[in-house]
Amino acid sequence: MEMIANYINGELNPPQSADYLDDTNPATGEIFAKIPLSNENDLKYAIASAEKAFPEWSKLSAKERASFLIKISNLIKDNLEELAAAESTDTGKPFQLAKTVDIPRAASNMEFFAHAITQFSSESHAGRDSINYTLRKPLGVVACISPWNLPLYLFTWKIAPALATGNCVIAKPSEITPYTAYLFSKICIEAGLPKGVLNILHGTGREIGNSIVQNKNIKAVSFTGGTATGRKIAEISAPMFRKISLELGGKNPALVFADCDLEKTVDGLVRASFTNQGEICLCASRIYIEKSIYEDFKSSFVEKVKALKVGNPLNKNSNLGALVSAQHLGKVKQYISIAKEEGGKQLCGDEDFELEEKNKNGYFLRPHVFENLPNQCRANQEEIFGPVVSLNIFKDEQEALSLANQNEYGLASSIWTNDLSRAHRLGDQIETGIVWINCWMNRDLRTPFGGMKNSGLGREGGLEALRFFTEPKNICIQY
Ligand code: NDP
Repeated sequence: MEMIANYINGELNPPQSADYLDDTNPATGEIFAKIPLSNENDLKYAIASAEKAFPEWSKLSAKERASFLIKISNLIKDNLEELAAAESTDTGKPFQLAKTVDIPRAASNMEFFAHAITQFSSESHAGRDSINYTLRKPLGVVACISPWNLPLYLFTWKIAPALATGNCVIAKPSEITPYTAYLFSKICIEAGLPKGVLNILHGTGREIGNSIVQNKNIKAVSFTGGTATGRKIAEISAPMFRKISLELGGKNPALVFADCDLEKTVDGLVRASFTNQGEICLCASRIYIEKSIYEDFKSSFVEKVKALKVGNPLNKNSNLGALVSAQHLGKVKQYISIAKEEGGKQLCGDEDFELEEKNKNGYFLRPHVFENLPNQCRANQEEIFGPVVSLNIFKDEQEALSLANQNEYGLASSIWTNDLSRAHRLGDQIETGIVWINCWMNRDLRTPFGGMKNSGLGREGGLEALRFFTEPKNICIQY
């Protein structure tokens, strides 16, 4: 049995408590590794190591720091197969998805911020009597806390800009999917990352996650996860006047107009709804369709959803793997019951499917599609974070916009239309931080990424991330 270790002060360490949690493969229900249950003592050691490393790391030139990130990126690429297999085993997601999306994106995150930091400049403002210029200094020791759905992808998305800007990092992956973060520790050691610059602590959110957030030596917290956890982090951080970046939940609307390219839209929305078993914060979960094409859209969509293959994530032809845990499967099933109680008509989801013998205890669920749900019901308002989507009818653009905006979340939306003016109009008015027109999850790492309303605070990506991890200081010089 593999014993996962913390990465502190440049070395792999067992937890000081000597206690471990089980790491389960959701596709088989089998325990395949043990996760350290870190506590305050591990944190103290990690913070002391990070504080010791900070003066030297922050004084390196941008190019020198970038060279470490490039080495790490290259090692991720060299270990693509192993990392993708590990991600699939830990999360239940299809190996093919991990190999083509998660792990390449983790490498891109490191590479992108390595390049970005060498191009990062600050402002200067010339006046009649004086000139001002802005310094952007690293903050010190910062925390990066990430969720289980895109483990290495989101972990590196935070760590890369934090390190590139000269900070030292205490990072905590989700206890549910820690394995690639552990492999990443080994990659950092191989890349020769100076000790203490990055420290990875494993364990539960309740214990080590909370201790990290409570610690006054942590100068900023970059967090991706659920809205309730984000709110707790905000409450703890506010009295410290500490910077926080919160990427939280979503209940993302898709608006389908009669003038769209129907076939491409159906394909796009099958992907948007069920990629990664619907366990992506950006997945479409409320689809609003113009009345005149509702029946055509529905029959084509449901037919394609029924054709999706659910099964062993290691098989090349599996479109959906297992949900991440028994607990999460239970939560999604509960929402399916709620949708039925709320009057939803189930259009698919109960079809028989074959599982291989070794997957019989895995947490599999066929994709579910509902219609006839009121807009204000729980199934249409709350984040389910699984393979469940609703089809809803609208009569005109105003109603579509109003239904889409009637939600406390505001992360991402997609609009499917060939009317350019409509696309601009709705893009401007829809209350989400990210709007895709005739596409979904098309990502350019330079763009601001994040949500409005209960979907978070602040933006990641490009300059936004570099600005978040630095403190601006204005210097004014009299001529
Ligand atoms: P959680 O909020 O439960 O956990 C996220 C991370 O925070 C985990 O590492 C968790 O540790 C840790 N954590 C939990 N409690 C605390 C605490 N009190 N203090 C500090 N850290 C804590 O979210 P999930 O992991 O369940 O992730 C799913 C959620 O993430 C969904 O709501 C999804 O929408 C959102 N998400 C948002 C994205 C975005 O970019 N906006 C992207 C991806 C996901 P542990 O797992 O060990 O409990």
